Amino acid sequence: TNDTLPDLLRRSAEAFPERTALSFIGAATSYRELWQDVQRFAAGLQKIGVQPGERVSLMLPNSPQFVVAFFGTLLAGATVVNTSPLYVPTELEHQLQDSGSETLILLDAFYPRYQQIAARVPVQRVIVTGIQDALPFPKNVLYPLKARREGSWVNVKAGGSVYSFRGLLKGQAPAPQAVTLRPDDVALLQYTGGTTGVPKGAMLTHRNLVANAEQCRAWMTDLKPGQEVTLAAIPFFHVYGMTVGMNLSMLTGATLVLVPNARDIKMVLGQIQASGATLFPGVPTLYNAINNHPDTPNFDLTTIRACISGSAPLPLETARRFRQITGGANLVEGYGLTESSPVTHVNPIFGDQREGSIGLPIPGVDALVAGEDGNPLPSGEIGELWVSGPNIMRGYWERPDETAKVLREAHGQTWLLTGDMAVMDDDGYFRIVDRKKDLIIAGGHNIYPREVEEVLYAHPAVLEAAAVGLPDPYRGETVHAVVALKPGMTATEAEIIAHCRANLSPYKAPRSVEFRAELPKSAALKVLRRQLAEEARAALK
Ligand code: ATP
Repeated sequence: TNDTLPDLLRRSAEAFPERTALSFIGAATSYRELWQDVQRFAAGLQKIGVQPGERVSLMLPNSPQFVVAFFGTLLAGATVVNTSPLYVPTELEHQLQDSGSETLILLDAFYPRYQQIAARVPVQRVIVTGIQDALPFPKNVLYPLKARREGSWVNVKAGGSVYSFRGLLKGQAPAPQAVTLRPDDVALLQYTGGTTGVPKGAMLTHRNLVANAEQCRAWMTDLKPGQEVTLAAIPFFHVYGMTVGMNLSMLTGATLVLVPNARDIKMVLGQIQASGATLFPGVPTLYNAINNHPDTPNFDLTTIRACISGSAPLPLETARRFRQITGGANLVEGYGLTESSPVTHVNPIFGDQREGSIGLPIPGVDALVAGEDGNPLPSGEIGELWVSGPNIMRGYWERPDETAKVLREAHGQTWLLTGDMAVMDDDGYFRIVDRKKDLIIAGGHNIYPREVEEVLYAHPAVLEAAAVGLPDPYRGETVHAVVALKPGMTATEAEIIAHCRANLSPYKAPRSVEFRAELPKSAALKVLRRQLAEEARAALK
Protein backbone atom coordinates (compact mmCIF):
# COMPACT_ATOMS: atom_id res chain seq x y z
CA THR A 1 0.00 0.00 0.00
CA ASN A 2 1.07 3.56 -0.68
CA ASP A 3 -1.21 4.95 2.01
CA THR A 4 0.12 7.33 4.61
CA LEU A 5 -1.16 7.28 8.18
CA PRO A 6 -3.64 10.16 7.75
CA ASP A 7 -5.13 8.24 4.79
CA LEU A 8 -6.26 5.52 7.21
CA LEU A 9 -8.27 7.99 9.23
CA ARG A 10 -9.60 9.85 6.18
CA ARG A 11 -10.89 6.63 4.64
CA SER A 12 -12.66 5.57 7.84
CA ALA A 13 -14.17 9.06 8.11
CA GLU A 14 -15.53 8.62 4.59
CA ALA A 15 -16.80 5.10 5.19
CA PHE A 16 -18.19 5.52 8.74
CA PRO A 17 -18.67 9.29 9.33
CA GLU A 18 -21.15 8.97 12.18
CA ARG A 19 -19.49 6.04 13.92
CA THR A 20 -17.87 6.86 17.25
CA ALA A 21 -14.14 7.03 16.66
CA LEU A 22 -13.10 8.00 20.18
CA SER A 23 -14.74 7.40 23.49
CA PHE A 24 -13.14 9.11 26.45
CA ILE A 25 -14.71 8.74 29.88
CA GLY A 26 -18.16 9.02 28.43
CA ALA A 27 -17.55 11.62 25.71
CA ALA A 28 -17.84 10.48 22.12
CA THR A 29 -16.20 11.90 18.98
CA SER A 30 -17.40 10.64 15.60
CA TYR A 31 -15.04 9.80 12.75
CA ARG A 32 -16.30 12.86 10.88
CA GLU A 33 -15.57 15.14 13.86
CA LEU A 34 -12.20 13.54 14.50
CA TRP A 35 -11.06 13.99 10.90
CA GLN A 36 -12.18 17.62 11.03
CA ASP A 37 -10.30 18.23 14.28
CA VAL A 38 -7.20 16.62 12.81
CA GLN A 39 -7.38 18.93 9.79
CA ARG A 40 -7.98 21.94 12.04
CA PHE A 41 -5.04 21.03 14.20
CA ALA A 42 -2.79 20.62 11.14
CA ALA A 43 -3.90 24.07 9.98
CA GLY A 44 -3.18 25.43 13.48
CA LEU A 45 0.32 23.98 13.46
CA GLN A 46 0.97 25.53 10.06
CA LYS A 47 -0.27 28.86 11.31
CA ILE A 48 2.26 28.94 14.15
CA GLY A 49 5.05 28.02 11.75
CA VAL A 50 5.52 24.25 11.95
CA GLN A 51 7.22 23.15 8.73
CA PRO A 52 7.12 19.78 6.98
CA GLY A 53 9.93 17.52 8.17
CA GLU A 54 10.19 19.20 11.59
CA ARG A 55 9.99 17.08 14.72
CA VAL A 56 7.00 17.55 17.01
CA SER A 57 7.23 15.82 20.40
CA LEU A 58 4.05 14.52 22.01
CA MET A 59 4.03 14.03 25.77
CA LEU A 60 0.44 12.97 26.34
CA PRO A 61 -1.49 10.10 27.90
CA ASN A 62 -4.11 8.22 25.87
CA SER A 63 -6.68 10.91 25.21
CA PRO A 64 -8.53 12.52 22.30
CA GLN A 65 -5.77 15.13 22.24
CA PHE A 66 -3.18 12.43 21.57
CA VAL A 67 -5.03 11.18 18.50
CA VAL A 68 -5.70 14.69 17.17
CA ALA A 69 -2.11 15.82 17.77
CA PHE A 70 -0.65 12.65 16.27
CA PHE A 71 -2.58 12.68 12.99
CA GLY A 72 -2.60 16.49 12.80
CA THR A 73 1.19 16.62 13.06
CA LEU A 74 1.51 14.02 10.31
CA LEU A 75 -0.99 15.79 8.08
CA ALA A 76 1.12 18.94 8.38
CA GLY A 77 4.05 16.89 7.08
CA ALA A 78 5.97 16.89 10.36
CA THR A 79 7.43 13.91 12.24
CA VAL A 80 5.94 12.78 15.56
CA VAL A 81 8.34 12.03 18.42
CA ASN A 82 6.64 9.95 21.07
CA THR A 83 7.64 11.00 24.56
CA SER A 84 6.87 9.04 27.69
CA PRO A 85 4.87 10.99 30.26
CA LEU A 86 6.94 9.24 32.90
CA TYR A 87 10.18 10.86 31.79
CA VAL A 88 12.08 12.76 34.42
CA PRO A 89 13.48 16.14 33.27
CA THR A 90 16.90 14.77 32.26
CA GLU A 91 15.33 12.06 30.07
CA LEU A 92 13.02 14.60 28.50
CA GLU A 93 15.97 16.90 27.88
CA HIS A 94 17.95 14.16 26.18
CA GLN A 95 15.12 13.19 23.88
CA LEU A 96 14.16 16.74 22.91
CA GLN A 97 17.79 17.51 22.15
CA ASP A 98 18.54 14.29 20.33
CA SER A 99 15.45 14.56 18.14
CA GLY A 100 15.89 18.30 17.60
CA SER A 101 12.22 18.85 18.43
CA GLU A 102 11.13 22.42 17.80
CA THR A 103 7.59 21.85 19.00
CA LEU A 104 6.35 20.09 22.14
CA ILE A 105 2.72 19.21 22.81
CA LEU A 106 2.11 18.24 26.41
CA LEU A 107 -0.39 17.88 29.21
CA ASP A 108 -0.50 20.81 31.63
CA ALA A 109 0.45 18.58 34.55
CA PHE A 110 3.80 17.79 32.89
CA TYR A 111 4.65 21.41 32.23
CA PRO A 112 6.72 21.91 35.41
CA ARG A 113 9.08 19.18 34.25
CA TYR A 114 9.55 20.87 30.90
CA GLN A 115 10.15 24.23 32.60
CA GLN A 116 13.17 22.80 34.42
CA ILE A 117 14.96 22.07 31.15
CA ALA A 118 13.38 24.62 28.80
CA ALA A 119 16.56 26.69 28.51
CA ARG A 120 18.62 23.73 27.30
CA VAL A 121 16.45 22.30 24.51
CA PRO A 122 15.70 23.42 20.95
CA VAL A 123 11.94 23.73 21.56
CA GLN A 124 10.50 26.95 20.09
CA ARG A 125 6.79 26.31 20.64
CA VAL A 126 4.93 24.56 23.42
CA ILE A 127 1.31 23.56 23.02
CA VAL A 128 -0.37 22.84 26.33
CA THR A 129 -3.55 20.89 26.86
CA GLY A 130 -5.58 19.84 29.87
CA ILE A 131 -8.39 17.49 30.65
CA GLN A 132 -10.84 20.29 29.86
CA ASP A 133 -9.73 20.09 26.23
CA ALA A 134 -11.03 16.55 25.79
CA LEU A 135 -13.17 16.99 22.75
CA PRO A 136 -15.92 17.69 23.56
CA PHE A 137 -15.56 18.15 27.30
CA PRO A 138 -17.34 15.18 28.84
CA LYS A 139 -20.69 16.21 30.22
CA ASN A 140 -21.60 13.01 31.97
CA VAL A 141 -18.32 11.85 33.42
CA LEU A 142 -18.74 8.23 34.41
CA TYR A 143 -15.36 7.62 35.93
CA PRO A 144 -13.43 10.41 37.58
CA LEU A 145 -9.91 10.91 36.27
CA LYS A 146 -7.18 10.55 38.77
CA ALA A 147 -4.58 12.98 37.57
CA ARG A 148 -1.02 12.25 38.63
CA ARG A 149 -0.20 15.17 40.85
CA GLU A 150 3.42 16.13 40.80
CA GLY A 151 4.68 19.08 42.75
CA SER A 152 2.14 21.83 42.68
CA TRP A 153 -0.33 22.55 39.92
CA VAL A 154 0.65 25.43 37.79
CA ASN A 155 -1.54 27.68 35.75
CA VAL A 156 0.01 27.62 32.34
CA LYS A 157 -0.67 30.88 30.59
CA ALA A 158 -0.81 30.98 26.83
CA GLY A 159 1.26 33.73 25.23
CA GLY A 160 4.68 34.12 23.64
CA SER A 161 5.82 30.68 22.58
CA VAL A 162 3.18 28.90 24.70
CA TYR A 163 -0.04 28.03 22.90
CA SER A 164 -3.20 26.46 24.18
CA PHE A 165 -4.32 23.32 22.39
CA ARG A 166 -7.91 24.41 22.31
CA GLY A 167 -6.93 27.89 21.17
CA LEU A 168 -5.05 26.38 18.26
CA LEU A 169 -8.10 24.43 17.13
CA LYS A 170 -10.58 27.23 17.63
CA GLY A 171 -11.26 29.36 14.65
CA GLN A 172 -9.26 27.15 12.28
CA ALA A 173 -11.01 25.92 9.18
CA PRO A 174 -10.54 22.18 8.65
CA ALA A 175 -8.47 22.98 5.59
CA PRO A 176 -4.70 22.86 6.09
CA GLN A 177 -2.44 23.79 3.23
CA ALA A 178 -1.85 20.69 1.19
CA VAL A 179 1.48 19.06 1.95
CA THR A 180 2.73 16.17 -0.15
CA LEU A 181 3.16 13.18 2.13
CA ARG A 182 5.22 10.34 0.76
CA PRO A 183 4.95 6.82 2.10
CA ASP A 184 8.68 6.72 2.72
CA ASP A 185 8.74 9.92 4.79
CA VAL A 186 9.65 9.37 8.42
CA ALA A 187 6.38 9.57 10.35
CA LEU A 188 7.68 8.75 13.78
CA LEU A 189 10.81 8.75 15.90
CA GLN A 190 10.23 6.13 18.55
CA TYR A 191 12.92 6.07 21.21
CA THR A 192 14.12 2.76 22.50
CA GLY A 193 16.91 1.48 24.66
CA GLY A 194 16.71 -1.66 22.58
CA THR A 195 19.41 -4.22 23.07
CA THR A 196 22.29 -1.84 23.72
CA GLY A 197 20.73 0.43 26.32
CA VAL A 198 21.65 3.68 24.50
CA PRO A 199 18.40 5.62 23.92
CA LYS A 200 18.02 6.14 20.20
CA GLY A 201 15.19 7.10 17.90
CA ALA A 202 13.95 4.40 15.55
CA MET A 203 12.86 6.07 12.30
CA LEU A 204 9.54 4.54 11.31
CA THR A 205 8.07 5.66 8.01
CA HIS A 206 4.42 5.97 7.03
CA ARG A 207 4.93 2.82 4.98
CA ASN A 208 6.34 0.93 7.98
CA LEU A 209 3.48 1.88 10.28
CA VAL A 210 0.67 1.49 7.75
CA ALA A 211 2.11 -1.89 6.77
CA ASN A 212 2.13 -3.09 10.35
CA ALA A 213 -1.49 -2.06 10.95
CA GLU A 214 -2.44 -3.82 7.68
CA GLN A 215 -0.45 -6.89 8.67
CA CYS A 216 -2.28 -7.09 12.00
CA ARG A 217 -5.61 -6.69 10.23
CA ALA A 218 -4.73 -9.48 7.81
CA TRP A 219 -3.91 -11.69 10.78
CA MET A 220 -7.12 -10.94 12.69
CA THR A 221 -9.29 -12.46 10.01
CA ASP A 222 -12.66 -11.87 11.64
CA LEU A 223 -12.32 -8.12 12.26
CA LYS A 224 -15.58 -6.46 11.25
CA PRO A 225 -15.02 -3.05 9.65
CA GLY A 226 -16.90 -0.30 11.46
CA GLN A 227 -18.08 -2.59 14.25
CA GLU A 228 -15.26 -3.32 16.67
CA VAL A 229 -14.63 -1.61 19.99
CA THR A 230 -10.98 -1.45 21.06
CA LEU A 231 -10.14 -0.88 24.71
CA ALA A 232 -6.93 1.13 24.54
CA ALA A 233 -5.31 1.01 27.95
CA ILE A 234 -1.77 0.38 26.75
CA PRO A 235 -0.13 3.70 25.99
CA PHE A 236 0.06 5.12 22.48
CA PHE A 237 3.41 6.72 23.25
CA HIS A 238 4.80 3.20 23.03
CA VAL A 239 4.79 1.73 19.54
CA TYR A 240 2.81 -1.35 20.53
CA GLY A 241 -0.22 0.58 21.79
CA MET A 242 0.13 3.00 18.91
CA THR A 243 -0.06 0.33 16.22
CA VAL A 244 -2.26 -2.38 17.72
CA GLY A 245 -4.47 0.00 19.70
CA MET A 246 -4.73 3.27 17.79
CA ASN A 247 -3.66 2.70 14.17
CA LEU A 248 -5.40 -0.66 13.74
CA SER A 249 -8.61 0.91 15.06
CA MET A 250 -8.36 3.88 12.73
CA LEU A 251 -7.74 1.49 9.84
CA THR A 252 -10.78 -0.65 10.61
CA GLY A 253 -13.22 2.06 11.70
CA ALA A 254 -13.33 0.71 15.24
CA THR A 255 -14.35 2.72 18.29
CA LEU A 256 -11.27 3.50 20.32
CA VAL A 257 -11.99 3.59 24.04
CA LEU A 258 -9.24 5.68 25.61
CA VAL A 259 -8.00 4.84 29.08
CA PRO A 260 -5.39 7.36 30.19
CA ASN A 261 -3.90 5.24 32.95
CA ALA A 262 -3.48 1.49 32.49
CA ARG A 263 -2.47 1.14 36.12
CA ASP A 264 -5.96 2.09 37.25
CA ILE A 265 -7.39 -1.42 36.93
CA LYS A 266 -10.79 -0.47 38.24
CA MET A 267 -11.12 2.10 35.49
CA VAL A 268 -9.99 -0.44 32.88
CA LEU A 269 -12.62 -2.90 34.14
CA GLY A 270 -15.32 -0.24 34.19
CA GLN A 271 -14.51 0.90 30.68
CA ILE A 272 -14.54 -2.64 29.28
CA GLN A 273 -17.99 -3.19 30.71
CA ALA A 274 -19.39 0.23 29.78
CA SER A 275 -18.12 0.10 26.20
CA GLY A 276 -18.71 -3.57 25.45
CA ALA A 277 -15.11 -3.78 24.24
CA THR A 278 -14.47 -6.54 21.72
CA LEU A 279 -10.70 -6.13 21.33
CA PHE A 280 -8.32 -5.64 24.22
CA PRO A 281 -4.64 -5.53 23.27
CA GLY A 282 -2.43 -5.66 26.34
CA VAL A 283 0.71 -6.80 28.03
CA PRO A 284 1.14 -9.69 30.46
CA THR A 285 1.36 -7.46 33.54
CA LEU A 286 -2.01 -5.91 32.65
CA TYR A 287 -3.81 -9.24 32.15
CA ASN A 288 -2.16 -10.48 35.31
CA ALA A 289 -3.32 -7.44 37.28
CA ILE A 290 -6.90 -7.96 36.04
CA ASN A 291 -6.78 -11.64 36.91
CA ASN A 292 -5.84 -10.80 40.47
CA HIS A 293 -7.86 -7.66 41.16
CA PRO A 294 -10.48 -8.04 43.90
CA ASP A 295 -13.12 -6.15 41.87
CA THR A 296 -12.77 -8.23 38.71
CA PRO A 297 -15.65 -10.61 39.53
CA ASN A 298 -18.04 -7.63 39.70
CA PHE A 299 -17.53 -6.68 36.05
CA ASP A 300 -18.78 -8.25 32.85
CA LEU A 301 -15.79 -8.88 30.59
CA THR A 302 -17.48 -11.38 28.29
CA THR A 303 -17.76 -9.06 25.26
CA ILE A 304 -14.00 -9.31 24.77
CA ARG A 305 -13.33 -11.54 21.79
CA ALA A 306 -9.68 -11.17 20.90
CA CYS A 307 -6.56 -9.96 22.65
CA ILE A 308 -3.00 -9.86 21.48
CA SER A 309 -0.50 -9.89 24.31
CA GLY A 310 2.88 -8.50 23.41
CA SER A 311 6.04 -6.87 24.68
CA ALA A 312 7.06 -9.56 27.17
CA PRO A 313 6.58 -13.29 27.69
CA LEU A 314 3.03 -14.25 28.55
CA PRO A 315 3.12 -16.67 31.48
CA LEU A 316 0.90 -19.67 30.69
CA GLU A 317 -0.96 -19.28 33.94
CA THR A 318 -1.86 -15.67 33.14
CA ALA A 319 -3.32 -16.62 29.75
CA ARG A 320 -5.35 -19.52 31.17
CA ARG A 321 -6.88 -17.47 33.96
CA PHE A 322 -7.73 -14.56 31.67
CA ARG A 323 -9.56 -16.85 29.27
CA GLN A 324 -11.53 -18.16 32.23
CA ILE A 325 -12.66 -14.81 33.57
CA THR A 326 -13.70 -13.53 30.14
CA GLY A 327 -15.58 -16.67 29.23
CA GLY A 328 -13.09 -17.71 26.56
CA ALA A 329 -11.58 -14.55 25.04
CA ASN A 330 -8.96 -15.47 22.51
CA LEU A 331 -5.81 -14.23 24.25
CA VAL A 332 -2.85 -14.96 22.01
CA GLU A 333 0.79 -14.18 22.48
CA GLY A 334 2.58 -12.06 19.93
CA TYR A 335 6.00 -10.53 19.65
CA GLY A 336 7.66 -7.51 18.24
CA LEU A 337 10.02 -4.66 18.87
CA THR A 338 10.14 -0.93 18.34
CA GLU A 339 12.36 -1.28 15.28
CA SER A 340 9.70 -3.35 13.48
CA SER A 341 6.71 -1.07 14.09
CA PRO A 342 6.46 -3.42 16.23
CA VAL A 343 4.60 -6.68 15.45
CA THR A 344 6.41 -9.51 13.66
CA HIS A 345 4.89 -12.69 15.13
CA VAL A 346 1.50 -13.66 16.53
CA ASN A 347 -0.18 -16.93 17.32
CA PRO A 348 -3.08 -17.68 15.00
CA ILE A 349 -6.21 -16.07 16.42
CA PHE A 350 -8.15 -18.97 14.95
CA GLY A 351 -6.40 -22.23 14.57
CA ASP A 352 -3.46 -23.88 16.14
CA GLN A 353 -2.20 -21.74 19.03
CA ARG A 354 0.88 -22.99 20.79
CA GLU A 355 1.28 -22.04 24.40
CA GLY A 356 4.62 -20.53 25.24
CA SER A 357 5.21 -19.68 21.59
CA ILE A 358 5.06 -16.26 19.92
CA GLY A 359 3.39 -17.95 16.96
CA LEU A 360 4.14 -17.50 13.28
CA PRO A 361 5.54 -14.55 11.33
CA ILE A 362 2.61 -12.38 10.27
CA PRO A 363 1.94 -11.83 6.55
CA GLY A 364 4.82 -10.02 4.86
CA VAL A 365 7.36 -10.86 7.56
CA ASP A 366 10.22 -13.27 6.95
CA ALA A 367 11.96 -14.64 10.01
CA LEU A 368 14.92 -16.88 10.66
CA VAL A 369 16.97 -18.11 13.57
CA ALA A 370 20.57 -17.21 12.80
CA GLY A 371 23.71 -18.90 13.99
CA GLU A 372 26.89 -17.01 14.87
CA ASP A 373 27.84 -16.97 11.16
CA GLY A 374 24.52 -15.37 10.15
CA ASN A 375 23.23 -18.48 8.40
CA PRO A 376 19.84 -19.93 9.28
CA LEU A 377 19.94 -22.71 11.87
CA PRO A 378 17.79 -25.82 11.53
CA SER A 379 14.59 -26.03 13.55
CA GLY A 380 15.11 -26.89 17.21
CA GLU A 381 18.36 -24.95 17.54
CA ILE A 382 18.72 -21.73 19.51
CA GLY A 383 20.08 -18.64 17.77
CA GLU A 384 19.35 -14.95 17.29
CA LEU A 385 16.00 -14.06 15.73
CA TRP A 386 16.27 -12.05 12.51
CA VAL A 387 13.22 -10.48 10.86
CA SER A 388 12.60 -8.78 7.55
CA GLY A 389 9.57 -7.06 6.01
CA PRO A 390 7.84 -3.78 5.08
CA ASN A 391 7.54 -2.87 8.78
CA ILE A 392 11.29 -2.74 9.51
CA MET A 393 12.58 0.75 10.40
CA ARG A 394 14.73 2.79 8.12
CA GLY A 395 17.42 3.10 10.81
CA TYR A 396 18.19 5.02 13.99
CA TRP A 397 17.96 8.80 13.81
CA GLU A 398 21.42 10.24 13.23
CA ARG A 399 23.16 7.09 14.46
CA PRO A 400 24.53 5.22 11.46
CA ASP A 401 26.86 3.17 13.68
CA GLU A 402 24.00 1.89 15.83
CA THR A 403 21.94 1.25 12.68
CA ALA A 404 24.74 -0.80 11.16
CA LYS A 405 24.75 -3.04 14.25
CA VAL A 406 21.14 -4.10 13.80
CA LEU A 407 20.30 -3.84 10.09
CA ARG A 408 22.08 -6.32 7.85
CA GLU A 409 21.94 -7.20 4.16
CA ALA A 410 22.00 -10.96 3.81
CA HIS A 411 20.33 -13.69 1.79
CA GLY A 412 19.06 -11.05 -0.67
CA GLN A 413 17.14 -8.86 1.78
CA THR A 414 17.50 -6.47 4.73
CA TRP A 415 17.26 -8.09 8.15
CA LEU A 416 16.72 -6.62 11.57
CA LEU A 417 18.80 -8.39 14.20
CA THR A 418 16.45 -8.49 17.16
CA GLY A 419 18.87 -9.23 19.99
CA ASP A 420 16.50 -11.98 21.14
CA MET A 421 17.43 -15.64 21.27
CA ALA A 422 14.78 -17.83 19.69
CA VAL A 423 14.06 -21.30 18.42
CA MET A 424 11.73 -22.46 15.64
CA ASP A 425 9.89 -25.77 15.73
CA ASP A 426 9.29 -28.08 12.78
CA ASP A 427 5.98 -26.36 11.97
CA GLY A 428 7.51 -22.89 11.83
CA TYR A 429 6.30 -21.68 15.25
CA PHE A 430 8.82 -19.52 17.06
CA ARG A 431 9.60 -19.39 20.76
CA ILE A 432 11.59 -16.60 22.40
CA VAL A 433 14.15 -18.12 24.68
CA ASP A 434 15.23 -14.77 26.11
CA ARG A 435 17.10 -11.62 25.42
CA LYS A 436 20.69 -12.14 24.44
CA LYS A 437 21.71 -9.53 27.03
CA ASP A 438 19.81 -10.96 29.98
CA LEU A 439 21.40 -14.38 29.79
CA ILE A 440 22.72 -15.54 33.17
CA ILE A 441 25.86 -17.67 33.03
CA ALA A 442 26.28 -19.77 36.17
CA GLY A 443 29.13 -22.27 36.41
CA GLY A 444 29.36 -22.33 32.62
CA HIS A 445 25.65 -23.07 32.18
CA ASN A 446 23.49 -20.71 30.16
CA ILE A 447 20.35 -19.83 32.09
CA TYR A 448 17.55 -17.92 30.42
CA PRO A 449 15.75 -15.93 33.15
CA ARG A 450 12.41 -16.48 31.47
CA GLU A 451 12.50 -20.21 32.24
CA VAL A 452 13.04 -19.49 35.92
CA GLU A 453 10.31 -16.86 35.90
CA GLU A 454 7.80 -19.30 34.39
CA VAL A 455 8.38 -21.59 37.38
CA LEU A 456 8.11 -18.69 39.84
CA TYR A 457 4.79 -17.62 38.29
CA ALA A 458 3.49 -21.14 38.73
CA HIS A 459 3.83 -20.78 42.53
CA PRO A 460 0.35 -20.08 43.88
CA ALA A 461 1.42 -17.10 46.00
CA VAL A 462 3.47 -15.32 43.35
CA LEU A 463 1.97 -12.30 41.62
CA GLU A 464 5.02 -10.99 39.73
CA ALA A 465 8.51 -12.36 39.31
CA ALA A 466 11.87 -11.59 37.78
CA ALA A 467 15.06 -13.63 37.72
CA VAL A 468 18.39 -11.84 37.46
CA GLY A 469 22.07 -12.76 37.68
CA LEU A 470 24.22 -11.79 40.65
CA PRO A 471 28.02 -11.96 40.58
CA ASP A 472 29.42 -15.02 42.34
CA PRO A 473 33.11 -15.69 42.96
CA TYR A 474 32.83 -19.42 42.20
CA ARG A 475 30.17 -19.73 39.55
CA GLY A 476 30.54 -16.39 37.77
CA GLU A 477 26.88 -15.66 38.40
CA THR A 478 24.02 -17.09 40.42
CA VAL A 479 20.30 -16.71 39.98
CA HIS A 480 18.50 -14.23 42.22
CA ALA A 481 14.71 -13.98 42.22
CA VAL A 482 12.67 -10.88 42.94
CA VAL A 483 9.00 -11.57 43.59
CA ALA A 484 5.85 -9.75 44.60
CA LEU A 485 3.23 -11.86 46.35
CA LYS A 486 -0.51 -11.85 45.72
CA PRO A 487 -2.50 -9.78 48.21
CA GLY A 488 -3.12 -11.74 51.39
CA MET A 489 -0.75 -14.57 50.43
CA THR A 490 2.49 -15.50 52.13
CA ALA A 491 5.55 -17.50 51.19
CA THR A 492 9.06 -17.67 52.60
CA GLU A 493 12.34 -17.54 50.74
CA ALA A 494 12.93 -21.21 51.56
CA GLU A 495 9.52 -22.19 50.19
CA ILE A 496 10.09 -20.34 46.92
CA ILE A 497 13.53 -21.87 46.49
CA ALA A 498 12.17 -25.35 47.27
CA HIS A 499 9.42 -24.86 44.67
CA CYS A 500 12.04 -23.89 42.07
CA ARG A 501 14.32 -26.81 42.98
CA ALA A 502 11.38 -29.16 42.46
CA ASN A 503 10.77 -27.79 38.96
CA LEU A 504 14.19 -26.79 37.62
CA SER A 505 17.69 -28.24 37.33
CA PRO A 506 19.62 -27.28 40.47
CA TYR A 507 21.86 -24.73 38.74
CA LYS A 508 18.82 -22.81 37.47
CA ALA A 509 17.06 -22.54 40.82
CA PRO A 510 17.47 -19.16 42.55
CA ARG A 511 19.91 -19.06 45.46
CA SER A 512 18.24 -16.04 46.97
CA VAL A 513 14.79 -14.46 46.88
CA GLU A 514 13.89 -10.87 47.52
CA PHE A 515 10.30 -9.84 48.25
CA ARG A 516 8.81 -6.58 47.05
CA ALA A 517 5.32 -5.13 47.24
CA GLU A 518 5.39 -4.70 43.47
CA LEU A 519 7.99 -4.94 40.72
CA PRO A 520 9.15 -1.77 38.95
CA LYS A 521 7.69 -1.44 35.45
CA SER A 522 8.29 0.71 32.42
CA ALA A 523 5.68 3.07 31.04
CA ALA A 524 4.67 0.20 28.78
CA LEU A 525 4.14 -1.88 31.93
CA LYS A 526 7.11 -4.11 31.25
CA VAL A 527 8.87 -5.45 34.34
CA LEU A 528 12.23 -3.69 34.49
CA ARG A 529 14.43 -6.73 34.82
CA ARG A 530 17.65 -4.83 34.15
CA GLN A 531 16.87 -2.24 36.83
CA LEU A 532 16.18 -5.03 39.33
CA ALA A 533 19.50 -6.65 38.42
CA GLU A 534 21.35 -3.38 38.97
CA GLU A 535 19.64 -2.80 42.32
CA ALA A 536 20.34 -6.32 43.52
CA ARG A 537 24.00 -5.98 42.48
CA ALA A 538 24.29 -2.62 44.21
CA ALA A 539 22.80 -4.08 47.40
CA LEU A 540 25.60 -6.67 47.45
CA LYS A 541 28.33 -4.05 47.55
P1 ATP B 1 13.20 0.05 25.80
O1 ATP B 1 14.07 0.03 24.61
O2 ATP B 1 12.08 1.00 25.66
O3 ATP B 1 13.94 0.16 27.07
P2 ATP B 1 12.84 -2.67 25.13
O4 ATP B 1 14.29 -2.94 25.03
O5 ATP B 1 11.98 -3.65 25.82
O6 ATP B 1 12.52 -1.34 25.86
P3 ATP B 1 10.98 -2.70 22.97
O7 ATP B 1 11.18 -2.45 21.53
O8 ATP B 1 9.97 -1.93 23.69
O9 ATP B 1 12.38 -2.47 23.62
O10 ATP B 1 10.64 -4.22 23.23
C1 ATP B 1 11.08 -5.24 22.38
C2 ATP B 1 11.56 -6.42 23.16
O11 ATP B 1 10.52 -6.93 24.01
C3 ATP B 1 11.93 -7.57 22.29
O12 ATP B 1 13.23 -7.42 21.76
C4 ATP B 1 11.82 -8.74 23.26
O13 ATP B 1 12.99 -8.87 24.05
C5 ATP B 1 10.68 -8.33 24.17
N1 ATP B 1 9.44 -9.03 23.79
C6 ATP B 1 8.41 -8.57 23.08
N2 ATP B 1 7.43 -9.49 22.97
C7 ATP B 1 7.85 -10.58 23.62
C8 ATP B 1 7.30 -11.88 23.86
N3 ATP B 1 6.11 -12.24 23.46
N4 ATP B 1 8.06 -12.74 24.56
C9 ATP B 1 9.28 -12.40 25.00
N5 ATP B 1 9.84 -11.21 24.82
C10 ATP B 1 9.14 -10.30 24.14
